[in-house]
Amino acid sequence: MTAPLFNTLCVIGPGLIGSSVLRRLRAQPGLVSRLVIADRDPAVLDRVRCLNLGDEITDNLAKAVSGADCVMLCVPVGAIAPVARAIMPHLKSGAILTDVGSTRRSVVDALLPTLRDDIAYVPAHPMAGTEHSGPDAGLADLFEDRWCLLTPDANAPQDAIDRMSAFWRAMGARIRIMDIDHHDTICAMVSHLPHLIAFTICGTADTLAEDMRSEVLDFAASGFRDFTRIAASDPTMWRDIFLNNSDALLSVLDRFSQDAASMAKAIREGDEKTIVETISRGRRIRRSLLENRQA
Ligand code: NAP
Repeated sequence: MTAPLFNTLCVIGPGLIGSSVLRRLRAQPGLVSRLVIADRDPAVLDRVRCLNLGDEITDNLAKAVSGADCVMLCVPVGAIAPVARAIMPHLKSGAILTDVGSTRRSVVDALLPTLRDDIAYVPAHPMAGTEHSGPDAGLADLFEDRWCLLTPDANAPQDAIDRMSAFWRAMGARIRIMDIDHHDTICAMVSHLPHLIAFTICGTADTLAEDMRSEVLDFAASGFRDFTRIAASDPTMWRDIFLNNSDALLSVLDRFSQDAASMAKAIREGDEKTIVETISRGRRIRRSLLENRQA
């Protein structure tokens, strides 16, 4: 039997992502010897106790992190730096601090000034999720074949990066190491803009006149239905993502608005060639996703 990657892993915030990690670890005993879970909400702690997701479950952050070789923050983006600040004095020397936040630049800027020299900061963003939240939403196979983007701090030792890479590979993910600003631009395009569009379309449907709105719901075709699934995501998490990745998001939104205006012009002018070309690009992208096993 191979040695565990970590003797003790502490997950703070056992929601969709945190509880998916914990479920996977429960299904793969030996990867981590001891699982500690911390959350501020007693109802969440009761739930993870019932689900048997950890060996120690507490609302005491200082106690939770003090013996951990790796501490994983699975809280909303806006809470990562404040929680990191609160636990920093209590971390074990040599521990790895990681988070799963969906945006990087603002988190890193807020967190680095408080980072201790003897702590390796290796955040890892798994590109996987659902519209559900909380400990009951987790899935052991959530990360299977999904990308996980590692954005290690420049001072993080190679051993810590290797261990986090091995950890996420064991979760089933594929690894890519990335610069933080590049990460934020890519994620603005592939995740944050689609969510913004989904929330906006649902808002538009909801503000239609009463009779029309009920028909939208009655006759929701697959296109609109697909948007409603994405739009059912957690408001706090998405507020934090939009506000923490505003520059990159506004930049791709600007580009999208120009492209939407070009499509509107083509429709107005009966420009069949542009319309068919735009739709064909969509089909090509879908085919590439299927080939990459990301659909
Ligand atoms: P979630 O299911 O809502 O879980 C969030 C957890 O964080 C909950 O246990 C929550 O506890 C705790 N929390 C919330 N605010 C907190 C605060 N101010 N201080 C301490 N704990 C707090 O969310 P999630 O979907 O797992 O997302 C967690 C992180 O993963 C986020 O940073 C998100 O950007 C990232 N992420 C999400 C997805 C996705 O698709 N969902 C994908 C990749 C990465 P309470 O119950 O006490 O609020």
